[in-house]
Amino acid sequence: MQKPLRKVVFVDRDGVINVDLWKYVESWDEFRFEKGALEGLKMLSEAGFDIYIISNQAGVGDGIFTEAAMWQVHEKMVEAMKKYGILIRGARYCTHGKKENCDCRKPKTKLLEKAVTGVNFDKKKTFFIGDKSSDLEAGKNFGVHTILVRTGYGPKTEKKLTEALRPEHIAHNLVEAASIVIQNS
Ligand SMILES: [Mg+2]
Ligand SMILES: [Zn+2]
Repeated sequence: MQKPLRKVVFVDRDGVINVDLWKYVESWDEFRFEKGALEGLKMLSEAGFDIYIISNQAGVGDGIFTEAAMWQVHEKMVEAMKKYGILIRGARYCTHGKKENCDCRKPKTKLLEKAVTGVNFDKKKTFFIGDKSSDLEAGKNFGVHTILVRTGYGPKTEKKLTEALRPEHIAHNLVEAASIVIQNS
């Protein structure tokens, strides 16, 4: 029997959900939600989207912080979101070092593939929201739509955009990105 059709959205973490510190977020006390992030995620959650966080955390593989510390930040973040009424369906982190040439570090698509294994969803109605070109490229490689947000690295990415990487939409922040996703679902 066909599994029920799910509404899926992929969201990058650093620079989209939380403030990019221009270094890794190594502990919960360094974590700050981006302006509009909780509101935007709540809009998606309430609209029935399954939210998947897709994030490169090479600081683990490169020995800057531990995987346990990364998961601790994750747990606290999910807890704070839950208090706000946001349900996160899943999160996939690439913990390999930048030079490991793994098959999951964005712009590769293994994290996205793993996140939605066995999930029935329509790629044509699915968006990847991110602030870096590696997010846009991962989304394109995976065959979903892309939204660049102007938080985090977004303004720098926007300046360097090539025709091949041009996203379908550019949004001010996660609230605006969420409206676009909801309008196009
Ligand atoms: Mg980012
Ligand atoms: Zn990896």
